[in-house]
Amino acid sequence: MDHFEYRGDELYCEDVPLARIADEVGTPVYVYSTATLERHFLVLRDALVAAGVRGERGGDPLIAFAVKANSNVAVLRTLARLGAGADTVSEGEIRRALAAGVPPEKIVFSGVGKTDAEIAFALRDGVAEINVESEPELQTVSRVARDLGVRAAVAIRVNPDVAAGGHAKIATGKSENKFGVSFAEAERLYAKASNDAGLRPVGVACHIGSQITDLAPMEAAFAKMRGLVERLRGEGLHVERLDLGGGLGVPYFNQPTPPSPADYAAMIARVMNGLDVAFAFEPGRVIAANAGVLVAKVTHVHVRPEGRRFLVLDAAMNDLIRPAMYDAFHDIRPVRPRDGEPLVYDVVGPVCETGDTFTRDRALPPLDGGDLVAFMSAGAYGAAMASEYNSRLLVPEVLVKDSGYAVVRPRPTYEDMLARERPAPWL
Ligand code: PLP
Repeated sequence: MDHFEYRGDELYCEDVPLARIADEVGTPVYVYSTATLERHFLVLRDALVAAGVRGERGGDPLIAFAVKANSNVAVLRTLARLGAGADTVSEGEIRRALAAGVPPEKIVFSGVGKTDAEIAFALRDGVAEINVESEPELQTVSRVARDLGVRAAVAIRVNPDVAAGGHAKIATGKSENKFGVSFAEAERLYAKASNDAGLRPVGVACHIGSQITDLAPMEAAFAKMRGLVERLRGEGLHVERLDLGGGLGVPYFNQPTPPSPADYAAMIARVMNGLDVAFAFEPGRVIAANAGVLVAKVTHVHVRPEGRRFLVLDAAMNDLIRPAMYDAFHDIRPVRPRDGEPLVYDVVGPVCETGDTFTRDRALPPLDGGDLVAFMSAGAYGAAMASEYNSRLLVPEVLVKDSGYAVVRPRPTYEDMLARERPAPWL
């Protein structure tokens, strides 16, 4: 459930008409709903707790929001206030999580190519755990930790070799993907880390893909993870944490319905029954996707002589790359629908790439220049993946709460954009 709905003939975010934000902040603009972010976090947490899935010392499991999905500090702070941790993949993301008030002991540092400097930063700031993705990285973490005179808490990320995820580009759990190590490798590395003065292995982790709408591959992967914990313990090794990653899909309009958080939690409780370990999760999309929309304005409608009708927007692939990158489907709703029979449109942006096409042959209520549309389910992997391609200004972000809103990332000016660059001395 989200808090974007029509009231009369007007699309609202909570108690704020989207048209008001478009008027006052301009378009394109991302708009997030506080109530929806909070609801999605709490529904997931409560489902896990109700199913008996526990964290450290029998408390709540760690729900480390995947910062890559939505890295706006105000969004992170909204979740941190409810007790969320942060799953991060760069020093920048760790800094964002800390700036949002996420305690270091709730920050997980993942990613396949952490640099020495990033590892040192994470260790100095006391992040909870570094999820190590390969043997060379384990060696690097050990060296950097010993140089700093500390023991790094590490989890070994396993690649369970299970196919899952809504699109090949977001599947991460097959052995041909770059993420994690095999089960046999994990056992060897865990034993090795246990005898390393720079390392303190605390657990194992996996993340098999994103936008997963079927529990079966997750269940298969999680059962294998349980087996790994038991084998490691059987070898006398100490395992306190099991990080099951993110990946739960969301109900994008017209797409397969994902399992509910309650079904997800029940599956985990079933697979892990009796396993005494502190559970952690790294959800991104399931919390943020349906908590945000991208509002854009129709620049004009261009009808080709052969009849193809292009709805040209002021938003482009640099603002929302998911359709170009993953063939992603976003429901598109008029902010103030006009009466009339639906028409079939190709919805495009102004960027000079044919890939700057949000959708083709989409039936929408009639639209004209100046009308506003909202791309639904754009709160995850939307603004976080935006760029300035074509020297378009970085898209702003707005956070709504009840009947008020705040611009939580203003649109930069062209002067800001140009001020970041320097002339070469010979030019
Ligand atoms: N954890 C890791 C290691 C990831 O790579 C990702 C996404 O790519 C996530 C968590 C979040 O995935 P999702 O947004 O599907 O929950």
